[in-house]
Amino acid sequence: MCPKPQSMKTMPAKVIPPGGTVGIIGGGQLGRMLSLAAARLGIKCHIFAPESDSPAFQVAAAHTIAGYSDAAALKAFAQTVDVVTYEFENIPADAVALLSSMRPVRPNAEALAALQDRVVEKTFIRGLGIETAPFAAVDSEASARNAFASIGSPAIIKTSRLGYDGKGQRRVHSADEAVAAWRDLGRAPCILEGFVDFARELSLVAARGVDGTTRCYDLVENAHEHHVLRTTFAPAHGSPRLTEEADEISRKIVEALGYTGVIATELFETRDGRLLVNEIAPRVHNSGHWTIDACAVSQFEQHIRAISGWPLGDPVRHSDAVMRNLLGDEALGWAPYAAAPGTCLHIYGKPEPRAGRKMGHVTKLFPLGTRPKT
Ligand code: AMP
Repeated sequence: MCPKPQSMKTMPAKVIPPGGTVGIIGGGQLGRMLSLAAARLGIKCHIFAPESDSPAFQVAAAHTIAGYSDAAALKAFAQTVDVVTYEFENIPADAVALLSSMRPVRPNAEALAALQDRVVEKTFIRGLGIETAPFAAVDSEASARNAFASIGSPAIIKTSRLGYDGKGQRRVHSADEAVAAWRDLGRAPCILEGFVDFARELSLVAARGVDGTTRCYDLVENAHEHHVLRTTFAPAHGSPRLTEEADEISRKIVEALGYTGVIATELFETRDGRLLVNEIAPRVHNSGHWTIDACAVSQFEQHIRAISGWPLGDPVRHSDAVMRNLLGDEALGWAPYAAAPGTCLHIYGKPEPRAGRKMGHVTKLFPLGTRPKT
């Protein structure tokens, strides 16, 4: 399934000037950092989220506490904003349709639909001639067996929707394990993927403006722990060819989607130097947090610029950077980071430091070309 590109001719680029209001669906740390970046440009944010202690509320001009299926609340919210965006991709389609009927939603509903479901997403990526892990859809015991027979061992089974940070995933080594894992995942629609014995995990954050201009940040390298991003190294070391290839992949994707806003493409680099797309996030991304401190225009400001019809900012990196997430209790140890030179501390204002929860991050800056090895 490849959504039709939105014609620029049918989309007049109404600029949202300082004083305008961006509506953000979702009130986590990404909404908070979007709101902080918008404030710097004189743009207000109205956050819509169900949780009364959403961290983005603390830094936004307005907020609405309501569920994503509350049509009356969504309508009232849309009336107060100039454009709607989101900080997470699992928004119900009905909510997106309702909001789209009242205000521009950027990135558009078609992009969201293409990237919300892993099977649809990987089919779309393959359709563009871009490599992914081999995959097959699973929605029954028979299809779990067939999928395993065609993909082989080891494989990873993931729920098609609503999975993040490795939640809703199992590694399997036989058809019986694939069936058991599918049952264990609540018999939800799933994808079975071949396990990629990658050399590195990389990602690329890019942005496309309403006029179709696309700008890419540097390709970065990511280290995960228990499926959760732990550290991002900017830039990724490697050949210019790799960066060009990643830029090209990202450009193909945003063009095909008629996309507006920031997009993140997660990639596996194989041991023989090929790039496979693992996942595309239609939003600002954890692996782009380093841009706040190491670039003149961060991914958050870039997203606000893009969806507001502003010219995109220059994504050039003025420093090398290593970004480390502060998970759970680690954020309680903030004081040494606050005192360390060249170190930028970000705390998200979440009430409870539950184990593994992203509570903040810290970015250490280095002169260009001097970041430590991974
Ligand atoms: P995801 O939720 O798809 O982003 O997966 C989370 C993490 O699991 C990735 O960052 C990888 O470290 C690992 N992973 C996911 N899919 C695969 C795969 N097909 N082969 C190897 N590792 C994978």
